Amino acid sequence: MPHKPCRTPVVLSADAGGHEPAIRWIHDGCPAGHPRLMARHTRHSNLTPWIVTALATALTGVAGCTPDATSAQSGTRTAPTPGAAGIGDTLHPGLGNGGYTVRHTDLALRFAEDLKTYTATTTLRGRATHALSRFDLDLTGTTVRSVTVDGREATWTRTGQELRVTPADPVPDGRGFSVEVTVHAPVAGPEEAEKLGTSAIGMVRAKGVVQTINQPSGAHRIAAFADHPAQKAPTTITIAAPSRVNAIANGELTATRREGVYTVRRFESRHKLAPELIQIGVGHFTVVKRRGPDGIKLRHALPTGQVNDLMPQLDTVVPKALRFLTRRLGPFPLRTYGIYATPLGGELETQSLTLLATEELTKEGMEANGSDTIVAHEISHEYFGNSVSPRRWSDLWLNEGHAVYYQGLWSQEAHGTDPADAMKSAYRDATAQLRKQGPVADPRLGAFTPKDMAPYGWGAYEGGALVLYALRQKVGEATFQRIERAWVAEHRDSTAGTADFIRLASRVAGRDLGPFLRSWLYSTKLPAMPGHPDWHTS
Ligand SMILES: [Zn+2]
Repeated sequence: MPHKPCRTPVVLSADAGGHEPAIRWIHDGCPAGHPRLMARHTRHSNLTPWIVTALATALTGVAGCTPDATSAQSGTRTAPTPGAAGIGDTLHPGLGNGGYTVRHTDLALRFAEDLKTYTATTTLRGRATHALSRFDLDLTGTTVRSVTVDGREATWTRTGQELRVTPADPVPDGRGFSVEVTVHAPVAGPEEAEKLGTSAIGMVRAKGVVQTINQPSGAHRIAAFADHPAQKAPTTITIAAPSRVNAIANGELTATRREGVYTVRRFESRHKLAPELIQIGVGHFTVVKRRGPDGIKLRHALPTGQVNDLMPQLDTVVPKALRFLTRRLGPFPLRTYGIYATPLGGELETQSLTLLATEELTKEGMEANGSDTIVAHEISHEYFGNSVSPRRWSDLWLNEGHAVYYQGLWSQEAHGTDPADAMKSAYRDATAQLRKQGPVADPRLGAFTPKDMAPYGWGAYEGGALVLYALRQKVGEATFQRIERAWVAEHRDSTAGTADFIRLASRVAGRDLGPFLRSWLYSTKLPAMPGHPDWHTS
């Protein structure tokens, strides 16, 4: 997820039990559970990264969170009606769009010579789930140049983050259709980078390179999308940029051609790609290819001039982290993986192309400075969040809880830390944190500022990891591993939510885990931790 660089120093204090020091960070915009916090922590201490906690986002009052619409029933033979403005996500009611499914997304970008502006054409191929008189895409900012449906000019209006498209003729129920939207926009300047960690930014040009920081709701600031993970689709990204710079995006480079002083590159993500996980890189960098474990194609984009310094670190950590995760979780969900290292960074799990700050790749090496734990966290997202995407944003704990959990296991293997220490610390903080933000799987929108960053906070990160640790304590390591492997295998390249996880865990364990898991997921007062009757929560 996107993160604002943390500049505030740590405050050390003895914990209530008089044991080892608890480490806290003054919150300066970094969400709780911030992997960068964890890495910083490992530089200053040999304690497990899980001990690090951030002060929670201040409460701003509970806001209304009524979904503005729900998808209409498929297959009804009624007069054409408008598609809903959203898919019924209570935390992000405007994201995604009702009335159709998305089968493929195509994004074609052409940058100006100075990289300060661009033109973007999005082509969505969809299928109507009811007869549509009109339908929406998500779009904020930008100037709309044209909108067509099946090649014919369409009329359109804009309201809030919705682009409302009325085709020349209604789209019949069940019919496939194609909508093409062209926009022109500035690339956000370096001043936008200051919002890192506190806002979904979209595309930004900072310190000489273009990059994207979309999570959770910034993609539709770049171009028109159905901007919800539940509507992810195989995606083609084409970047036309001046030949003096390089370009990279998610997926595999499948075509390159010259057009005068421009080079056009096409990247294919055959696996479904949510707009929030799109990465667009343009600038002076070099792409280095490697053969990874199990035939995974590795390609890293590194600042030209720093390749010789940075590659040895990636050559050490990335294959090791991939082997670590595939050993526990089964086959890697992608054929391609790599790191896009930029001066700004952001530590973001953009699919198949993790965004990482070059400052994490210091000379002493990633395992010495602790940034290897960030890489393990972000690679685990390729399973949790990218391949298995959340059905609704309240399911975010399934992304971040898992990433924190496996980051802790990596830390145990690579640095000898004990995950139980971190979990004990998190458990102690749990009640106070959950009272502010709401239960792990039912966060309160009003607790997040700004609301478009909901539900990134303690509950999704440490709270989610605590739920998984409790489950592991309840069913034992062997059954827990079977649950985890089944989860990523059965929902691979798909979307799934909290209820799906409870069902799958119960089935694999051979007993009803519903009451147990719900007591952890939907309460602000957590139950006793199995196997640790001496643990206490505030
Ligand atoms: Zn994460």
